[in-house]
Amino acid sequence: MDAPVKKKKLGLKDRYAAMTRGLHWDTTYQPMDKVFPYDKYEGIKIHDWDKWEDPFRLTMDAYWKYQGEKDKKLYAVIDSFAQNNGQLGVSDARYINALKLFIQGVTPLEYYAHRGFQHVGRQFTGAGARVAAQMQAIDELRHFQTETHAISHYNKYFNGMHSSNHWFDNMWYLSVPKSFFEDAFTGGPFEFLTAVSFSFEYVLTNLLFVPFMSGAAHNGDISTVTFGFSAQSDESRHMTLGIECIKFMLEQDPANVPIVQRWIDKWFWRGYRLLTLVAMMQDYMLPKRVMSWKEAWEMYAESNGGALFKDLARYGIREPKGWKDACEGKDHISHQAWATFYQYSHAAAFHTWIPSEDEMKWLSERYPDTFDRYYRSRFDHWSKEQKKEGRWFNQVLPMLCQVCTVPMLFTEPGDPTQIAYRESTYLGMKYHFCSNHCQEIFDYEPRKYVQSWLPVHQIYQGNCYPDDINPASPGDSPVREVLRYYGVNGGEDNGDFSTSQDKSNFSKWRGKDAPEGASDE
Ligand code: FE
Ligand code: ZN
Repeated sequence: MDAPVKKKKLGLKDRYAAMTRGLHWDTTYQPMDKVFPYDKYEGIKIHDWDKWEDPFRLTMDAYWKYQGEKDKKLYAVIDSFAQNNGQLGVSDARYINALKLFIQGVTPLEYYAHRGFQHVGRQFTGAGARVAAQMQAIDELRHFQTETHAISHYNKYFNGMHSSNHWFDNMWYLSVPKSFFEDAFTGGPFEFLTAVSFSFEYVLTNLLFVPFMSGAAHNGDISTVTFGFSAQSDESRHMTLGIECIKFMLEQDPANVPIVQRWIDKWFWRGYRLLTLVAMMQDYMLPKRVMSWKEAWEMYAESNGGALFKDLARYGIREPKGWKDACEGKDHISHQAWATFYQYSHAAAFHTWIPSEDEMKWLSERYPDTFDRYYRSRFDHWSKEQKKEGRWFNQVLPMLCQVCTVPMLFTEPGDPTQIAYRESTYLGMKYHFCSNHCQEIFDYEPRKYVQSWLPVHQIYQGNCYPDDINPASPGDSPVREVLRYYGVNGGEDNGDFSTSQDKSNFSKWRGKDAPEGASDE
């Protein structure tokens, strides 16, 4: 008599292996190198993909279940926030401008991250790395969606959010985050992971998310806090992928060390430049402050990052080249950036303002060595001008850095009174840079960076006018026509906060005058 065959149940570890690496096969009709052309051309040598430690340790079915639960909770909070008119509970309407910056500049990066991880998930020969990249790709798509859904509620009531995806592709300050990610996903798969998973997610992500999310919490925005937490809970997996990828490359072959070091130098600096926008948001755009950019830098970069690079020293990795300059910049970049946006907010899709007396006091306390000495007098001057002559906007477009695409607003290391300019010549053309580090990135791969889409150049070349405008004679106000091309509603999305619809609507809805600091007194 035949005994019934009992199906053996796999243990957790075997089941996991069967459902991840077990799905891999070597191709036979075509050689593996032809099917996976990208995982060798960067020069990274991998001898044994089996040494890759899976950072996520999740099977796909467990992943869906887990993420589904999180989404249910998140959407319950977002719904009740909307039903209770939660937007009226924020500290004051200036806070909304931090959300505008987020939906314009950060949320589209989630979608870019999604695309990038899909791409590298296809390109690695190792199944472990492919599975990890695929899961992160889905995470990032979810982040794009939940952020868009959460912030869409604010879009019903406030200006500056209605065309965020279009702006991301066109507006001058959004070329900074856009070019960062386009640079990353036009690199090879190992460079992409070093850029996004390691330099960004592992080293710098706390400096992006913590200021926005604790800023939201302090300013009464539970909706943003909730999507922030929902996204951050994926972050531990993403950070693990970042550190695993770095260690894997370094352990596989000593010839990988200099390649990885150059990527770390490059991507630390590009990430740091991108964070200028966050530094400004943190020090100037939150009516209720959490901590200064300088304090955040000291906590998340200097102490955490310092320990990390000590740990990586055993592989022959040193701290990124731009590290010391970035640490010096903690005293300056938020003030320099806000001063720039103040001058150009007629051409931006969010509002700026002069900080109130109380806020300036806070800034001098947090920046005892620099704020009063270098920056306060600018705001005092503009404030006086505003009362006398009306709000002043700079009509001359600035020179941009060819690599980070930030306007030339950063100063020389060691001398905060001198704007830093660098230039290189390539094939008879001159290119400009904000720093030694951006210049060095260019000089290593000039053929890549001569292609940078520089918003100011594009405007002056006549590529940013609506179809009904002749670029050779755009009329009496070229800037107005450029704004029309951008889809920015002049007088609504842009300009000073004190005269904005956002401000007057918000005080009407709340039935009282805007709080201290938000006024044009
Ligand atoms: Fe994300
Ligand atoms: Zn630069």
